[in-house]
Amino acid sequence: MLQIPHLPETRKLKALAVLTSGGDAPGMNAAIRAVVRYAIAKDCAVYGVTKGYSGLLEGQIQPMEASSVANIIQRGGTILKTDRCEAFFRKAVRREAAHILQRKGIEGLVVIGGDGSFTGAHLMENETGFPTIGIPGTIDNDIAGTEDTIGFDTAVNTAVDAIDRIRDTASSHDRIFVVEVMGRSSGYIALQTGIGGGAETVLVPERKIPVSKICDTIERGIRRGKTSSIIVLAEGRTPGNAQVLAQKLEDRGYATKVCILGHTQRGGTPTAHDRMLASAMGASAVAHLMAGHSNSMIGCRDNRIQLVPFKDVIGGKKTLSTALLDLGAVLAT
Ligand code: ADP
Repeated sequence: MLQIPHLPETRKLKALAVLTSGGDAPGMNAAIRAVVRYAIAKDCAVYGVTKGYSGLLEGQIQPMEASSVANIIQRGGTILKTDRCEAFFRKAVRREAAHILQRKGIEGLVVIGGDGSFTGAHLMENETGFPTIGIPGTIDNDIAGTEDTIGFDTAVNTAVDAIDRIRDTASSHDRIFVVEVMGRSSGYIALQTGIGGGAETVLVPERKIPVSKICDTIERGIRRGKTSSIIVLAEGRTPGNAQVLAQKLEDRGYATKVCILGHTQRGGTPTAHDRMLASAMGASAVAHLMAGHSNSMIGCRDNRIQLVPFKDVIGGKKTLSTALLDLGAVLAT
């Protein structure tokens, strides 16, 4: 169960702004809702910035009311839209962004996004002193300093549901299925999906497994009467990995199909867990800004919501649990 510490005592803050940046993730809307409603409850005005840093630079900044976030907690995506903004890599542009916010009387910025978005916020605060707080919103769960990110649980549930469906066909046709899930440099989605979906093999960027070993697992299954297998594969950095693996298995005489889940994992109704996490993190972000804390992310460690300085987050590597990887392998045999 998620532990929510008492939120810090507040000082008066006139207005803050919230934006979403980078890849969207289910639960971002629940986080926006919490930011808006918590701020208003504390007599702080809130502005919504449309389209991330690009919209900020274009001045797409609108006041939000409690009613602006009605009926969004259950919706995937982000009502504020999101974008990637090349210009924000430039110092002069970040300085201009801070001025745009200050001219509107805004005294703090909540950034819902990933490592890249936090880097932009961190640099802007270091260069201008403008207070920023990050909320981790990404399905990949690849952000250092937090055990969980908004959208991860939903993505895993979507992928497990897909595997349950694929297994019906795999067993009816005696096929091997390679199911590719998201995760360019991190195997979190693949690992949890593999364990939750009872996959025979899980392939993650953090641990390479030779094709011969995958074939050994398939053969072991066949000897025990299994006629089908599910291999969950994290997409990795090079596109087409699932096809390449399927071809190698075909070459060894195994009838293999590929299913790439792709963007189906990014959208959809957020799970109750992601809504809860987003609500707690959104409120905590506002409370910390109001208490004068900034240049940090709201993280979750030991199931507790807490403040983690951006410097301990950005560029950090989160290591995949080898114990979980081993467990997945044991349970699949
Ligand atoms: P995510 O936040 O999901 O990791 P990106 O890495 O695409 O997504 O970053 C989102 C946006 O954050 C970028 O388009 C850019 O505007 C800003 N950003 C990313 N990295 C930096 C950086 N090193 N310096 C300044 N801004 C950055």
